[in-house]
Amino acid sequence: MFLSIWVGVVMAGAQTGCSTLSKKEAEVRPPVAAENRPAQPPANPGSGRSMRNPDYYTIPKVPPPGARNTYSSVNVNGPYIAITFDDGPHPTNTPRLLNILAQRNIKATFFVVGQLAKEYPQIIRRILAEGHEIANHTLTHPTLTKVSDDRIRRELGETHKALVDIAGYHTRLFRPPGGATNARLKEWFHNEYGYSTILWTVDPQDWKRPGVSVVTSRLVNGARPGAILLCHDLHAPTVDAMPGTLDQLLAKGFKFVTVSQLLNMESSAPASSVTAVAPSSDPAPFNPNGSIVPSVPSDAPIPFLKGQPPAVNGIPSEGGAAPLR
Ligand SMILES: [Zn+2]
Repeated sequence: MFLSIWVGVVMAGAQTGCSTLSKKEAEVRPPVAAENRPAQPPANPGSGRSMRNPDYYTIPKVPPPGARNTYSSVNVNGPYIAITFDDGPHPTNTPRLLNILAQRNIKATFFVVGQLAKEYPQIIRRILAEGHEIANHTLTHPTLTKVSDDRIRRELGETHKALVDIAGYHTRLFRPPGGATNARLKEWFHNEYGYSTILWTVDPQDWKRPGVSVVTSRLVNGARPGAILLCHDLHAPTVDAMPGTLDQLLAKGFKFVTVSQLLNMESSAPASSVTAVAPSSDPAPFNPNGSIVPSVPSDAPIPFLKGQPPAVNGIPSEGGAAPLR
C-alpha cells in the first residue's frame, strides 16, 4: 500500500488442523458468567450462519511478564493462531471487517497507523469495545531503518499517545512498517516503550491484490499452531477474502486469539519448526479508487500526510524489491 498517497487523497478530498479440544485449551476456557461477557455485537442480516470461535475472555490481553522483544510466531500447545490487520483504520473496510469477525466471535489484532487512528477515533473505540487488540504501527508509516531516531521516537510516541487520548488504551505491541527493523530498534522499543515487536508467520501478500481465492488459500495453507497471520484491512479485497478464510480456518480446527493472548499461551516445549518470514510484505501501493498505484522510486517526491514532513529520504520502498506500501 502506499499509505501516504491514500491519506493524502482522503485529506485533500474532504477531508494443522486439530479438531478436538486439547487439555490446555480446556484449561484456558473456563466458563464465564454471562454478566462478565461483553455485549454481543448485532448480527449482520443476511450473513447466514457462521462458525463460531470459542470464547477466550480469561486469557490476559496484555503480554506476559518477560515477553521477548520480538516474535514472528509462538510455541503453543494447541491449535491457536492470531490474525492481524495492518494499516487501518479504514472508514469502510475496517467496520465491514469488524462485522465479519463479530459473526464468528473472532478477536483479532489491529496494527493501526496513528494518523488514521486520529482521523477515525470512533473506529478505534469500536475495535476495543468488541474485544480486539490494538497495536502501534507508527504515526505515518515510514520505513524505520531509513529515518532518524528523532523521527522514530515521534512516530511511536505520538501513536501511543493518540491511542491513550482516544480510548485510554496503552498498547504493548508494535509492528514496523514493512517489517523493516533491526536488533537495535527492537531492543530500544522494548526498553523504552515496553513494546514487543510483532512480525508474522504467514504473509499472503494481500496488498498486491492477488485475488480473494489466492489470499484465502495462502492464509489457510500457511496457518499452523502458534502462527501470526498478516493481513491489511486497508484493502477491500482482503476484507472480501475474510469470510471464506476465517470459515476455512475454523473448519480446520484453528482457534483465534489476539497476539497478546497468543504470547500468554507460549509453551516451554521445544520449538517446532518455526519459520520466521523475511520482512517483505506490508503495504502495497494503493489509492481509494481500488487500483494499484504505480511503484515510485524511493527518492521521488511523495504527497504526505497532513502536517507531516516528508521522510528524510522520501518514502522509501519497503522490503527490498517490494513496491511501495
Ligand atoms: Zn503497514
